[in-house]
Amino acid sequence: MATTSLPSAASSRLEGKVALITGGASGIGECTAQVFAHHGAKVIIADIQDELGHLVSQSIGETNCKYVHCDVTDESQVKNAVDKAVETFGKLDIMFNNAGISDHCGPRIVDNDKASFERVLSVNVTGVFLGIKHASQAMIRARSGSIISTASISSDIAGTASHAYTCSKHAVVGLTKNAAVELGQFGIRVNCVSPHGIATPMATKFSGNSVEQIENKVNSIANLKHVTLKPEDVANAALFLASDEGRYISGLNLLIDGGFSIVNTSFN
Ligand code: NAD
Repeated sequence: MATTSLPSAASSRLEGKVALITGGASGIGECTAQVFAHHGAKVIIADIQDELGHLVSQSIGETNCKYVHCDVTDESQVKNAVDKAVETFGKLDIMFNNAGISDHCGPRIVDNDKASFERVLSVNVTGVFLGIKHASQAMIRARSGSIISTASISSDIAGTASHAYTCSKHAVVGLTKNAAVELGQFGIRVNCVSPHGIATPMATKFSGNSVEQIENKVNSIANLKHVTLKPEDVANAALFLASDEGRYISGLNLLIDGGFSIVNTSFN
C-alpha cells in the first residue's frame, strides 16, 4: 500500500456523499479512496486484487469504506458493485471509473494480436461503459450524480503508449462526452481526468522501471520539470469534479499533464 499525503485539517467537501471507485486497490484509485474519505465521503472500493482492496478499506476504516470484488469487464459484477454501494450506504453520488491496464499489448500494430488488443479495450473502454451505465441507473433515480473516468494523456496525443492503450483512452473521452450529453437532463455530470505518467504499480509493471527511474524519465520530458506528478494530483482533480464545486462542469477531459501535451503538439 502507498502512503497518501492528506491535508491535516478536517474537510467536508464530500460530506454526505457516497463514492464507488473501480481500481481502488492500488495507485491512483487507492489514493483517491483515501482523499475522498478524508473529505467526508463514504467509499466503496471495487477491484480484482482482493487482498490489497481489503487492506485499503481497513486503512480508511470499515465504517466509511467497504471493499467489493469487481472485474469491470463483467457486467453482473459492475451492477453488483453499484448495488453494494446503494445497499451499504443508501445511494450513489460519485462513480470513479478508474480501473485500467496498459499491458497485454505489444508496442507495434504489426506485431500485435487481436486478443491482446481487445483485452485492453475490454478493461479500459467496456469497463468504463459498464460503470457509466450502472452508476447512471442509480443516479437517474436521485436526479443527480458525478461520474468521472480516468483517461490519460494518451487520450489527447499519440506515441506515449501502445496503440491499444491510446485507442482505449481516446474512447474514454468519447464515451464521457456522449454520456454528458445524455445524462445532463437528469442532473448527472460526466467528466474524465487525463494524467501524464505517474510511477504507480501499473507503470512500473509495464515499463519494467523503478519508481525513481519512471519519475526521472517523466520529469526529463515534462513541461513542469520541477514538479513530480503524484497520484494525489489526480485524486484532487477528481475531488473537485466530484464535489459541488464542480457543479457546472460536464463533458470535460481535464488534462493533468503540466502543459506537456501543449508543448508536444506545438512547433517547439
Ligand atoms: P494501478 O495498476 O496501480 O491501478 C489500477 C488498478 O486497476 C489495480 O488495482 C488493478 O487491480 C485494477 N484493475 C485492473 N484490471 C481490472 C479489472 N478488470 N477490473 C477491476 N479492476 C481492475 O495503476 P494506476 O496507474 O493507478 O491506473 C489507474 C488508471 O490511471 C488507469 O485507468 C490507467 O490507465 C490510468 N493512467 C495511469 C497513468 C500512469 O502513468 N500511472 C497515466 C495516465 C492514466
